Amino acid sequence: MRIIFIGPPGAGKGTQAEKIIAKYKPAHLSTGDMLRAARDAKTPIGLEADKYMSGGQLVPDDVIIGIISERLQAPDCQVGYLLDGFPRTIAQAEALDKMLAEKGTPLDVVLELRVPDEELFKRLAGRGRADDKPEVIRERLVAYNKQTSPLLDYYNKQGLLKTIDGLGSVDEIFVRVEKILDQYN
Ligand code: AMP
Repeated sequence: MRIIFIGPPGAGKGTQAEKIIAKYKPAHLSTGDMLRAARDAKTPIGLEADKYMSGGQLVPDDVIIGIISERLQAPDCQVGYLLDGFPRTIAQAEALDKMLAEKGTPLDVVLELRVPDEELFKRLAGRGRADDKPEVIRERLVAYNKQTSPLLDYYNKQGLLKTIDGLGSVDEIFVRVEKILDQYN
């Protein structure tokens, strides 16, 4: 299964991603996790990325596309993967389409976890990560609404988009996820 998982910061994407990985066993490709690991290891890419991450802005497309194109070559990705936090811009989505067309491995589905902005603010305020300060949260939501939400239309036009209501308990939401993913398993 090749899945893209899209949702604003605080939608519960990380929690649902873990449950998807546990049940369906795709490789988990979280660009946020990769960037945090690079930042903590103080690699040149990590230090460069941190300038954007700490302000809630998106890391430049060429950096992210480079990371993902390398990661997609790895053996564990050949059976399937969950792209979590990528693509975040139309340019990233177009670059991904090109890579997958060259490999002859199209996407199966794009899952959107939808949660209203007011609810996101409430949830993010309680989380306590370094990029969860109120002004940074605001920036991350702005980035999502401006740069990432156009992807919903992009994938809807390709007939790949499935939207899930992100309100409810973790288990209630996962039942919605399963209803969709079971069709591709
Ligand atoms: P996340 O954990 O997915 O919310 O990502 C944390 C931060 O990493 C984001 O706020 C961005 O600064 C950066 N980031 C993660 N994925 C991407 C991406 N696909 N494009 C640009 N920046 C990204």
